[in-house]
Amino acid sequence: MKQSNLFKEALKHLPSGVNSPVRAFGAVGGTPVFMKRGRGAFVYDESGKRYLDFCLSWGPLIFGHAPAGLVKALQREVKNGTSFGAATKKETELAQLIKKAFPSIEKVRLVSSGTEAVMSAIRLARGVTGRKKILKIEGGYHGHVDSLLVRAGSGGATFGIPDSLGVPEELAKLTITVPFNHFEALHEIFRREGRRLAAFILEPVPANMGVVLPKPGYLKEVRSLTKKYGVLLIFDEVITGFRLAQGGAQERFSIEPDLTCLGKILGGGLPLAAFGGKSKWMDELVPEGKVYQAGTLSGNPLAARAAIWTLQKLIGSPPTPALERKSENFYGALKDRIRHFRWPVRLNALGSMFTIFFGTHPVDDFRSAQLCDTRLFAQFFHGALEKGIYLAPSQFEANFVSTAHTEQDLRRAVTVFERVLRKIF
Ligand SMILES: *Cc1c(COP(=O)(O)O)cnc(C)c1O
Repeated sequence: MKQSNLFKEALKHLPSGVNSPVRAFGAVGGTPVFMKRGRGAFVYDESGKRYLDFCLSWGPLIFGHAPAGLVKALQREVKNGTSFGAATKKETELAQLIKKAFPSIEKVRLVSSGTEAVMSAIRLARGVTGRKKILKIEGGYHGHVDSLLVRAGSGGATFGIPDSLGVPEELAKLTITVPFNHFEALHEIFRREGRRLAAFILEPVPANMGVVLPKPGYLKEVRSLTKKYGVLLIFDEVITGFRLAQGGAQERFSIEPDLTCLGKILGGGLPLAAFGGKSKWMDELVPEGKVYQAGTLSGNPLAARAAIWTLQKLIGSPPTPALERKSENFYGALKDRIRHFRWPVRLNALGSMFTIFFGTHPVDDFRSAQLCDTRLFAQFFHGALEKGIYLAPSQFEANFVSTAHTEQDLRRAVTVFERVLRKIF
């Protein structure tokens, strides 16, 4: 069946034809591509067309699609059953691995999605501080948690609906936002609201308004203010965890948050996420404590197997240095062309994640990201797609390089991007 027919059929049964909004290509127009399989750095659609994949399931696939070792581990595991709803040894084993990578975590609870991790961390922060308000940054995305669908990035930024219908005003009022990277605004908000804040939650390197880098000293300022006002600092490292370093952005920038949310890479492409921190906070969770949190499939054995395989591989032979060298070469070549042709685009990148912004101004917060030309981005996206490169289908998303991308794949990507950009400009 043709892509357009697959989509037509899906539209009859799934709202907007999809199960997560950005997949519908609303931000770039056209018909979403239906994927059938993935292998290494490539995905293949239902018609058999091959794409070099920079979306990589939005971040989880640091080793690319279907690494042989993982496939084998899962095949062995599935024979033992897929869920028990009881304690298993694997969960402890996985917790140990997470703690090894993240020294700020003394205890960790496993959940099934990043949204769940964040939702639980927020509840825990409110529970232990007895405070109601939450601070987040403009354009920060933390899944579709009610309290955090306020000036959110990702799908929220893509569709220009920072607030969702169905989120009660009374609840939204408890969420305060501050622009990222603005020292003055940060101090001002803590002076005004510091004593009422349960938590400040942020992606230490925001990736859901596109990749935006923290200004030097910004995260340190965040840490010192949260400490001063007794506010729990929650690092949402669902994307950055295991990517920017084994121990995520907190390792890379030497900042210790109170709670950490993990997902994406952690689950190795299966539904698994986690939140953790000091025992004194984590022990407030039920049944020992009084903050409720639960999940039928939490720590699911198949997902836990994928996570253990992934972390063992990450910890056993850390891929980050080689992956980043490869990525830097790729960015360097791309920046060369951008300078040479004077295209009005800008590459924001850190480690193996990047965004090509359609604008020439520095993009360092939500407002500057929103000034970018999404129409040009859509042209770029479709140009690349046609030539067999699959990017995240929105201007306000991160793209990723995996260990499966070869230097040759990346050189080809630069050539394709050049061809597409020359046509646009
Ligand atoms: C993807 C993401 C989430 C939500 O995770 P899901 O598994 O999609 O629920 C939360 N925070 C950040 C930073 C993310 O990128």
